[in-house]
Amino acid sequence: MVANRRRDTEPELAIRRRVHAAGLRYRVDAKPLPELNRRADLVFRPARIAVLIHGCFWHGCPVHYVEPRANRVFWSAKIERTRIRDLETSDRLIREGWEVVTIWEHEDPDLRAQHVIDRVRLRLRTVPRH
Ligand SMILES: [Zn+2]
Repeated sequence: MVANRRRDTEPELAIRRRVHAAGLRYRVDAKPLPELNRRADLVFRPARIAVLIHGCFWHGCPVHYVEPRANRVFWSAKIERTRIRDLETSDRLIREGWEVVTIWEHEDPDLRAQHVIDRVRLRLRTVPRH
């Protein structure tokens, strides 16, 4: 539990492989909005979809998060800050006309990748270009 922000975790790769195989292209670990200092794991700019892939521990999964025994106060504060930050990021993007897809590490990558593919294809047809 050292590096919080890591790229290329197994859940990220599992989603990326599937979405890429469907022919969709995206930016990895990129800022959806230039003026907002937040990154998303996958950014589909023309469709305006940001995908956030959350590790169950780091992002405080409602199903799987278990407080570590040591440094309880430290961890609960840290995870709570991450949760709040995740919510703020989603709110801000949604207000700017983006769609946010949150994927938890424990979810089925086939199902979640298919959801992303469907949403990107739909929004490419329906979101006005600018
Ligand atoms: Zn979980």
